Formats: sequence, C-alpha cells, structure tokens
Amino acid sequence: MKLLIASHNKGKVRELAELLDIPGLELVGLDDVHIEATIIEDGETYADNALAKARGYGALAGLPTLADDSGLEVDALNGVPGVHSARYGGGLSDAERNARLLEALAQVAPEDRTARFRCVIALVWQDGREQLAEGVCDGRITSAPRGSNGFGFDPLFYVPEYDATMAELPRATKNRISHRAKAAAQLRCQLVP
Ligand code: IMP
Repeated sequence: MKLLIASHNKGKVRELAELLDIPGLELVGLDDVHIEATIIEDGETYADNALAKARGYGALAGLPTLADDSGLEVDALNGVPGVHSARYGGGLSDAERNARLLEALAQVAPEDRTARFRCVIALVWQDGREQLAEGVCDGRITSAPRGSNGFGFDPLFYVPEYDATMAELPRATKNRISHRAKAAAQLRCQLVP
C-alpha cells in the first residue's frame, strides 16, 4: 500500500520513511506524486496544521497521508515561538532568527532557559479515520550558537544528556532523540501493535 508523506522536502520524506519503517508500506513524497500545491499552515496548534496538511494533500493525491508540524517552545517566553516557529521574526534567515531569540532571552539566566521541541504527526486515511501522535525533546537555549549540523534552532538547543547542542550531534543521534523521532515511534506503535 502507498502512503503519502506530505512534504516537498526530500530530506524530511526520507527521515520519516526511515523512522516509520513499516513493512509493506511504500512511502512517497509530494514530488513523487507530482503535487505542487502548498497548503497554508496558519492553524493555532500543531495538530491543526498537521491535520490540515494530511487532509488537504490526501484529498489531492487520493492516498492515505501523513503530515507533521513542529516548533520550539521556550518557557521564559511562555512557549513562544511554538506553532509560529517557522515565521518567528518574519522573513528572517535561520541565523537571524536565532540571533533574535538570543536577544529575547538576553536577561534570562541559564537555568531558566528551559525549552522543548514538539512535533505532532497526523495520519489521515482515505476512509476518514484520523490518527495523531506527539513527541517532545527537552533541552535548554544556549547563550550563543554552537555547531553546524541540522537546521533552524538546532545551534541554540542544548541537550543535557549529550552535553551538546542539536547542531553538534551527528545526524543519526539527532534522529534517535528528536521530537520527530519520538512522534514517529508513537505512531508506529499505533500502526504495528
Ligand atoms: P516544521 O513543522 O518541521 O516545518 O518546523 C517548523 C519550524 O520549527 C522550523 O522552521 C524550525 O524553525 C523549527 N523546528 C522544527 N523542528 C526543528 C528541529 O529539529 N531543529 C530546529 N528547528 C526546528
């Protein structure tokens, strides 16, 4: 059976396909099924956005469809940027966005810079059934960027267990401990009991 992963990002499609690793499922991305449309992610929650994408792209492709949404929640900023992470600060580069976050936390002591990445995955079947899974990865925001792996807020996200930022960890390690990995594992448990 074919299952669509609702992303144009080949890296994300491959990562989710590896994490799910479900026998008998052929995982394809939006480009594989020649869908060019972009569904706007303007929901108030990760689940709203993930469900909107899974429903919308699933209807276009006529396939069961999986979509994810994620973000960074900083406790000292009351959970900001959260579901708005991709747009934090407007049209900024990753480096500019990170600089902006450091500025917002300039007066916050290291022990109060707790944060987490959160990911919600939605799976929408063609018969209308919908499944949700969530994963969280806890850490702290550093006082300066460190490391060059990954993307987004990775250089600022310190993971105490590894004494490293996400951007200093090898890809394989991040893919084991990340919010996306945990959400995918939870979904996998629902699909392969
Ligand atoms: P998306 O839902 O995976 O597209 O993520 C939305 C935004 O959250 C990204 O643009 C990043 O700013 C942030 N984000 C999500 N996951 C990660 C991650 O694994 N590392 C760094 N930033 C992330």
